[in-house]
Order: sequence, then structure tokens, then C-alpha cells
Amino acid sequence: MTAAPTHHKARALRPGSPRPAKELCSECGLCDTYFVHYVKDACAFLNQQVAELEEVAHGRSRDLDAPDDVYFGVHQEMIAARKREPIAGAQWTGIVSAIACEMLERGLVEGVVCVQSAPGDRFQPQPTIAKTPEEVLAARVNKPTLSPNLSVLELVERSGMQRLLAIGVGCQIQALRAVQDKLGLEKLYVLGTPCVDNVTRAGLQKFLETTSQSPETVVHYEFMQDFRVHFKHEDGSVEMVPFFGLKTNKLKDVFAPSCMSCFDYVNSLADLVVGYMGAPFGYQWIVVRNDTGKEMLEVVADRLVMQPVGSQGDRRAAVQQSIPAYDKGVTLPMWAARLMGVFIERIGPKGLEYARFSIDSHFTRNYLYVKRNHPEKLADHVPEYAQRIVEQYNLPD
Ligand code: FAD
Ligand code: SF4
Repeated sequence: MTAAPTHHKARALRPGSPRPAKELCSECGLCDTYFVHYVKDACAFLNQQVAELEEVAHGRSRDLDAPDDVYFGVHQEMIAARKREPIAGAQWTGIVSAIACEMLERGLVEGVVCVQSAPGDRFQPQPTIAKTPEEVLAARVNKPTLSPNLSVLELVERSGMQRLLAIGVGCQIQALRAVQDKLGLEKLYVLGTPCVDNVTRAGLQKFLETTSQSPETVVHYEFMQDFRVHFKHEDGSVEMVPFFGLKTNKLKDVFAPSCMSCFDYVNSLADLVVGYMGAPFGYQWIVVRNDTGKEMLEVVADRLVMQPVGSQGDRRAAVQQSIPAYDKGVTLPMWAARLMGVFIERIGPKGLEYARFSIDSHFTRNYLYVKRNHPEKLADHVPEYAQRIVEQYNLPD
């Protein structure tokens, strides 16, 4: 028997009421629970504490003299992998869902925090605690919208559950790490995905309508390593739109302010991270941060095709050029955008260098956003590793 948790409770905030992080709130869900009591310490946008929480989660914070640590966070290993038999309808090959199903089946955990779709709207997130593999599978595929995954934390505590797997993006995981010892759990496993450029449900609509030829049939989309957005439609067709052809002037305010000021793209505090951007096309990119992450990956290892991660090219010129282009909202004509996409795909950064390209372009953009919109937060909110990444480039004022 573990001792009942002792912690303070506060009244959850009412839906739609102002949040402590104001416009920077990513709707992580913490404030929808009585754990809102801890918001000042726990909220990723009120109290950036990646280095301190890395110590708690991984036993050390990232080594700022090790370039791969600076970019990808504390890790034991990184690999590229895909499921030999992909899960139909998953975002990629379904490694995240497969790990969660297997952990439930083996009895390693009693429940999985994940996010299904609300009935009638595939992009409206509905967080849940899945207790069966079927419920986990119902949560497969990205909901590319801010999702209050932590809103189920009260249910975790009330259920008396002792062993939990939480799946989530960086801001959710940062708040979770800050309150995890209040949940009365014997063991918490954290499976993260990278995350960037998320949107509100209304912002998503605008993005789809501005960018896709058939917004109402999009099932999922991803910003791919070939410098195109791939929209998958209901009939299985894939529509590709080059990044450089995006209507950046119209899309500038689509991304949520939280995501424009986030520097935890790689989900630094998860035990295991499953994304795609450091891997060759068709593979997923896996970052094992600690022994717990290793244990999680091992439960599906015999169902994966694995290969080492690689790195090719030099991202820096492309990143430097992207800074003023984004800043001024330049949109290339579609023919030029396609040409540029083809050219960059041939000679451009690949593998880990593509991941660095994406991290650099988002961190420089976000640094400018915070500097211009929340200058009082700049010093505390930008972690040291992000500061070092941004310093490699010339930024406009
Ligand atoms: P699946 O088996 O399909 O499972 C997906 C899991 O994600 C589900 O368990 C679900 O609960 C959870 N989930 C879905 N939507 C959300 C959400 N909004 N918040 C929290 N949890 C959610 N990877 C990169 O390498 N680079 C990126 O730039 C990148 N951007 C991303 C942006 C967003 C908004 C999200 C949600 C993910 C992003 N990822 C990115 C991760 C990547 O797209 C895949 O989610 C990951 O590789 C897992 O694929 P899978 O097939 O194994 O997942
Ligand atoms: Fe609360 Fe989460 Fe919003 Fe911060 S990001 S104010 S913790 S709901």
C-alpha cells in the first residue's frame, strides 16, 4: 500500500474563464483540475524550469557542452524505427499507440492518459484515461489542436490507480512533472511526442482553409522532411503543399501564442520521445532519455525495424534565410515554391540535421515573438540551451 497523497486542492477554474498564463496558456488542462493550486510553479509559461525538472526526471540536466544534448535534450540513445506492420490510421507507424497497448496488456500500467476525438469532430480533442488497448487505439493520430490532456488528472487520483502511462506534448509534460509526486502513484511512465505550431480549433480551421484545396476532407497532416505539408484526405489521397508556398502573411497569427513562445519542441522531460523529424522518410525518430524510456521501448522492440540515426547537409544558410522571410510574411508563387522545395530536398539537411533545421527556424521565430510581445519574460522564459541555439543567427530587432 502506498500512502495517500497529501497535497493542497484548489477549486478548478471554470471552462472559458481567464487562465493564469493569460494569452500564453496552451490549455494543457492543469487549471481544469484542483491541481490548479500549483499553477504558479507548474505552468510551463509562468515558470520555465526545464533544467531543474530534467534533474528530477533523468537524474541530470542537459550538458550544454554536448551539441546533441543542447538540441535534443538528455538522452541515452537515438534511433530511427518503424513498425513492421503499421497501425492503420495512426499518425505515422503507430509506435506510440503500440507501446501504450502493450504496456496495458502486460499489466505494467493500469491506465493511459491520451486524447481521443470528440464525437462528430475528428480534430476536437477529448482527453481520456484509456484502460483497454481499444481505448488507446481510439486515441491514435494527432489532434493538431491544443489539448487539455491534464484535465483528467483528478480522475487519476480518485481512481486510486498506482501505475500510469501519460502520453503528451512538452507543455503538458512540464506541468505533469511539476505535480507528479502529488498524484499518489507508485510509477509514472511518460511517453512524449515533439510538438510545434499547434493551434486552437478555430485556428486549425483557418489553416486548413488557407492551405488545403479540400479542407473538409483532411484526416491528418504533417510538416514533412521533404519540405512540404502532406495532407491526407478521407479517400486516401495525399495533397502536398510546399512550405515555401504557405501563405505566411495570412498564417502569421494562426499558431497559438503558447506555441509561438515554446522552446521545448523535443519534449525534454518525457522518458521516451517518439517523433519523426530526425529520421529518414517513412521512419520514426526515437529518443530514449532514461532507463524508464528504455523499458518502454523494449516492450515493442521485436515489432520494429530499426536503424541508426544519420545526419547530412548544413542547415545554417537555409535557417538564416528563413528568418526575414517569415518575419516579413513573404509568400513565393506556387511554381517557385515547388522549385525551391525540390532544390532543397536534393541538397538540403537530412536526418538529425533536418531536425536541427526545424528547431533552429522555430526557436529563432519564437525568440523574436517573445522579445517583441513579452519582453519582460525573455530572460527567464528562454532556457539556456535555446539561447545558445538562437545566438548562432543574426536576428532583426
Ligand atoms: P499514434 O500511434 O498515432 O499516437 C498518437 C498519440 O498522440 C495518441 O496517443 C494521442 O493521445 C496523442 N496526441 C494526439 N494529439 C495530441 C495533442 N494535441 N496533445 C497531446 N497528445 C496528443 N514530431 C516531429 O518529429 N516533429 C514535429 O514537428 C512534430 N509536430 C507535432 C505537432 C503536434 C501538434 C503533435 C500532436 C505531434 C507532433 N509530432 C512531431 C509528433 C508526430 O507527429 C507523431 O505524433 C509521433 O511521431 C507519433 O506517431 P505515432 O504514429 O507513433 O502516433
Ligand atoms: Fe493553466 Fe496549463 Fe494554461 Fe498554464 S498552460 S495557465 S497550467 S491550463
